[in-house]
Amino acid sequence: MIPRTLFTAEHEDFRKSFRRFVEEEIVPHHERWEDQQHVDRTIWNRAGELGFLCVNMPEEYGGSGADRLYSVVMMEELSRAGASGIGFPLHTDIVANYINNFGSDEQKKKWLPPMATGEMISAIAMTEPGTGSDLQAVKTTAVIDGDDYILNGSKTFITNGYLCDLVIVVAKTGTSGAGAKDISLLLVEANSPGFTKGKPLKKVGMKAQDTCELFFENVRVPRANLLGKEGNGFVALMKELAWERLIIAVVSISGAERALEQTLEYTRGRKVFGKPVAAYQNTRFKLAEMKAELAIGRVFVDKCLELVLQNKLGVDDAAAAKYWCSDLMGKVMDECVQLHGGNGYMLEYPIARAYVDCRAQRIYGGTNEIMKELIARTM
Ligand SMILES: Cc1cc2nc3c(=O)[nH]c(=O)nc-3n(C[C@H](O)[C@H](O)[C@H](O)COP(=O)(O)OP(=O)(O)OC[C@H]3O[C@@H](n4cnc5c(N)ncnc54)[C@H](O)[C@@H]3O)c2cc1C
Repeated sequence: MIPRTLFTAEHEDFRKSFRRFVEEEIVPHHERWEDQQHVDRTIWNRAGELGFLCVNMPEEYGGSGADRLYSVVMMEELSRAGASGIGFPLHTDIVANYINNFGSDEQKKKWLPPMATGEMISAIAMTEPGTGSDLQAVKTTAVIDGDDYILNGSKTFITNGYLCDLVIVVAKTGTSGAGAKDISLLLVEANSPGFTKGKPLKKVGMKAQDTCELFFENVRVPRANLLGKEGNGFVALMKELAWERLIIAVVSISGAERALEQTLEYTRGRKVFGKPVAAYQNTRFKLAEMKAELAIGRVFVDKCLELVLQNKLGVDDAAAAKYWCSDLMGKVMDECVQLHGGNGYMLEYPIARAYVDCRAQRIYGGTNEIMKELIARTM
C-alpha cells in the first residue's frame, strides 16, 4: 500500500545483514532456548562481535553512533522472525539509553562498552509483586549508609532478568511521601552480595525470554551508581517511556504483518471443499481488513518514528501507538489462527507461537488501559 519512506539504502543493507544473522544464528536455536527458558549467553557475545548491540550509543562508548532507525530495523526483523526470546531491544534501546542520557561520564565509560560487546547483559526493574501500573507505589528502598545505598526489596517480571549482569533498579530514596519525588534509579551489578535471582518465570508465551524475579537483601550499592540525580528517577522514566512504548508499536505492526503473510500463503495452499481457503469471500474479506488496518497502523507508527528522530514525540502519540497497534496485533493474530484452522493451534506452526507470544504486548510497557489514561489526560 503506501510505500515506506523512512529508511535509506544503508538502513536496508543493514537490514539484510541483520536478517541473515537472525536466520542463521537465532532461528535454528530458538526452540531449544524456549525449552531451557533462556537464550544462550553466547548469542549476546556474537551480536556484540557483529556490532548489533548498542548501535546508537556514541562511538567513544563502544557504539556505532547510528540513528535510532537502525534499532528499529533490528526490532522489526526480530519480530518478523518470531525471535521473542531475544532481549536486545530492551538492552540497547532502553537500558543503554538511560545510561547515555542520564549517566555521568564515568558511568558511561564503565558500563556502555561491555554492554556493546555483549559481555554485560542489562535489565530494568520497575515492577514489584505488589505494584506495576502504579510505579509511585514501589516499596523497594535505598537508604544512604556512608558511601553506599543499602538496597532492600524485590522486583518481578524482569526481562533479561535471569541472565543480566547489570540492572537499573527503581527504588525509593526519599521519605517525603510525595511519591514521584522519592524515586531514584540505581545501577546494580548482579554480583553484588545480597542480590539474588529467581528461576525464569513460566510464561504463556515468549518462553525463551528469561523474565524473572530479582531480590535485594541489604545490597550495598555505591552512591556513585546513582543514575541521574536523587529524586529524579520518576522524571527520567517519564522522559524515556514514550520511546519505549513506540518500540512496542513497532514490534506489533511488524509481527502482525509477518503473520498476515504467513496466513496468505497458508490459505492459498490449503484446500477445503475442493478450493483454497483463500478463495472464500470470508477469507478474502478478513485478509483485506487485516491488510488495510496494518497499513493504517504502519503509517502512524512511521510518522511517530519521524517525530522520535526530531525529539518531538508526544506522550499521547506514543501511548496511542502502543495501545492501538498492540490491540491490532492481538486481533490480527487471532484472525490468522482462525484461518489456519486446527493447525493454527499447533505450536509447530509459527502462527500458533506468534499468537501466544503477542499477548504480553498489551500488558507490558504500561498496560493499554494506562495508555488510554495518558491520552485522556491530554484532552
Ligand atoms: C513478559 C513481561 C515482561 C515484562 N518486563 C518487565 C521489565 O523488564 N521490567 C519491569 O519493570 N516490568 C516488566 N513487566 C511488568 C509490566 O510492565 C507490568 O506487568 C505492567 O506494567 C502491569 O503492571 P501489573 O502487572 O502490576 O498490573 P496491575 O497494575 O495490577 O494491573 C491490573 C489491571 O488493572 C488495570 N489498571 C491498573 N491501573 C488502572 C487504572 N488507573 N485505570 C484502569 N485500569 C487500571 C491494568 O490495566 C490491568 O488490566 C513485564 C511484564 C511481562 C508480562
